[in-house]
Amino acid sequence: MNNQQDKQSICNENSQSSSDNEGTKDFGTCVKCQQPNTGHKWCKPYNVKRFEYEQKDLTSGDKDVDEFIREIQVNANESKEFIEYISYDKFKEVEKVADGGFGIVFKAIWKEGYIE
Ligand SMILES: [Zn+2]
Repeated sequence: MNNQQDKQSICNENSQSSSDNEGTKDFGTCVKCQQPNTGHKWCKPYNVKRFEYEQKDLTSGDKDVDEFIREIQVNANESKEFIEYISYDKFKEVEKVADGGFGIVFKAIWKEGYIE
């Protein structure tokens, strides 16, 4: 697959959608595909494609949770709307903070950090 061409074609689809462009702020241009960003430093078509590729084998182990995460990811117009599944081995210095009626709370350092 020609990656550059593919990015171009998915972003062209986005720019032809009038509802996506009406009344939206100018977030500048995507550095990856040179199309208008959909959010602050966020290009929706690029990130949808990127996560399709990067997380295709990543699973929470629960089909409903995976579908929920995927649904959020494909609809996120900016980083604030985005969620990712993080497997336990991506954390270090995991520490129990507290437990109560709804579960146990841990804190940890996410080695790689969130996507940008
Ligand atoms: Zn882009």
